[in-house]
Amino acid sequence: MELLKLPRIRKIESFIISIPRETPYLGPLGPDEQINERGYLVRKGNRTIYPSSDMSVLVKATADDGTVGWGETYGIIAPQAVTCIIDDVLGPVVQGREIGDPMVIQEDLYDLMRVRGFFGGYYGDAMAGIDIALWDLYGKCVGLPVAKLLGGQRTQRIAAYVSGLPGRTMNERLATAQDFQARGFVAFKYAAAVSFDGIVEEMRALRERLGSQAELMVDLHWKFSAQEAIQLIDRLMPYRPYFVEAPCAPEDSLGQVQVGTAIRVPLALGEEWHTLYEYRARMESRAMAIVQPEMGHTGISQFVQIGRMAQAFHMKVIPHASIGIGIFQAASLHASATLPNCPMHEYQHSVFDRNLRFVKTTMRCFNGYFEVPEGPGLGTEPADSVWQYLVPKQNVK
Ligand code: MG
Repeated sequence: MELLKLPRIRKIESFIISIPRETPYLGPLGPDEQINERGYLVRKGNRTIYPSSDMSVLVKATADDGTVGWGETYGIIAPQAVTCIIDDVLGPVVQGREIGDPMVIQEDLYDLMRVRGFFGGYYGDAMAGIDIALWDLYGKCVGLPVAKLLGGQRTQRIAAYVSGLPGRTMNERLATAQDFQARGFVAFKYAAAVSFDGIVEEMRALRERLGSQAELMVDLHWKFSAQEAIQLIDRLMPYRPYFVEAPCAPEDSLGQVQVGTAIRVPLALGEEWHTLYEYRARMESRAMAIVQPEMGHTGISQFVQIGRMAQAFHMKVIPHASIGIGIFQAASLHASATLPNCPMHEYQHSVFDRNLRFVKTTMRCFNGYFEVPEGPGLGTEPADSVWQYLVPKQNVK
């Protein structure tokens, strides 16, 4: 039997997309929050900057036979930092490589800048965008879904939890949750950064409104010291949270361990980490029970290694979802569908639902479940309609 001759990578391109939205991510502006001249806002609740539009970086990988693969990564703040790294550093290095080598290429790209300290942040995001595009390209060239290339697909659908309950008042937020409950969703997470009526009060109100069957989670948005978090989580216990997320500052790794071992509810961490190395130390110290890899930061190659290492530590994987048009969401579903320890996936309904029209895909989130997209590669590509939101790289706003 003859070996399949795989093409090589001819070029890598990057694009910045900015899709306007009426209500900013996480919900309406709070007291003293405003959008600045660059289109960003700072959430007072967690002192973190967010975009007012849906900004994303798309990556196009073209093989020398003309086949095209698509990736996507974080472009939500300073997207030109990511596209500059892709265009100037990573893309030209990848040129000429064989398309069957995405995991090896990811390792090579990681090595390029590690001794200079660039193994995360914007550099990691740029690597992730290319990695996703290369897996998609590989799948298209061999005619297989990415999940199959990763070792096998366990499922065609993955349970989805409703993330974020945007609304000006508590009543509006509760109504949003009830609306999703009526449509078949059973798990809900709210965001402490916009819990203007109080974190404990919001969980109590959700439990009363949604009943005993609902699963409730809260994202604490890195707001607390370890002791503050432990006290707060004690006060949440009567409302039976399924998990609590990110209580302490990302750099407070000892605080995370302190919280994770003191509380009697699973701690979920990881959305801001890029590689196995950031996960490993926290896994060894049992800081968390649930890891939340973000595909836009990790790429597929790191994501699946993180997921399988989590399995070795008997931890669950409940992946993070963020602002994008749906390509890294599709990648996250493919990678999640290969894992034995992924009970559900975050569903950013306020982003996913409105941007689904900008991708050609069978991917859906319906009746409490994501459908993993079908077809070769990721089965998900930008639709023509997205290009009206292409932003020149020197003029991002
Ligand atoms: Mg979070």
